[in-house]
Amino acid sequence: NFDKYEDIPVEVAPSMEKIGVRSIETFQDDLGLAGPIMDNINRAGYKKPTPVQKFALPILVANFDIMACAQTGSGKTAAFLFPMISVILKAPPAPPAGNGRSSYPRGLILAPTRELVQQIFDEARKFCYKTGLRCAVAYGGGENIRDQLREVERGADIIAAAPGRLVDFMERGKVKLCDVMFLCLDEADRMLDMGFEPQIRRIVEDSDMPGNDMRQTLLFSATFPREVQRLAQDFLRRDFATLTVGRVG
Ligand code: ADP
Ligand code: MG
Repeated sequence: NFDKYEDIPVEVAPSMEKIGVRSIETFQDDLGLAGPIMDNINRAGYKKPTPVQKFALPILVANFDIMACAQTGSGKTAAFLFPMISVILKAPPAPPAGNGRSSYPRGLILAPTRELVQQIFDEARKFCYKTGLRCAVAYGGGENIRDQLREVERGADIIAAAPGRLVDFMERGKVKLCDVMFLCLDEADRMLDMGFEPQIRRIVEDSDMPGNDMRQTLLFSATFPREVQRLAQDFLRRDFATLTVGRVG
């Protein structure tokens, strides 16, 4: 029941009017999400966007970077997955996502734990149904590395990954970040707490290669400490939007 979120204050800076996008009351209205993803949203039974989705979706579809703060359970996953899938589907046809040896993902999501990565992967697969996009997952701490590698070698358009395992796959030449157009750091505060900053910096730098000035970068976090603000300053384009739902922290 998301009605409990209705009264939560939302702040967007610069204002939505300045950014030039309108907020939306329904998913369909004025959002321009690609068709197949609308079918999947309807199939999932999502009737109304949550506050973070209501504001993040139009900002992201309008190609802005974002630093978004909202509490756990407020629907942040869909807030980055829907625009990610839509933007990828609407982009000019890309070279194949793989060549039988490695993946060239266009969407990349980093999250701190295997459980979170797995959840994001499950949601990504659900919302990619019938879009033709392939998803893969990368996290450590299990016997699953062979399965993960096989999927990555087949070529994935979207990869959900824990930073350490992704760097491992990059070093093996299994994942190439030169085509990443949509990079999301989910639970950024927790990733920093867990000491993943060096891996995150390496991943962002690798997806920042010459010729890839298209990249849209998203930072999602439940809290907004100084270290997260520093990542935003370092990684996001200068005109990025900040979205705060409820009280920070
Ligand atoms: P967060 O990442 O902010 O903690 P999640 O993205 O995991 O939250 O979402 C929490 C739950 O709410 C998930 O089960 C998700 O499927 C569901 N959910 C998200 N957005 C909507 C929506 N607009 N309508 C109905 N359910 C939703
Ligand atoms: Mg989440």
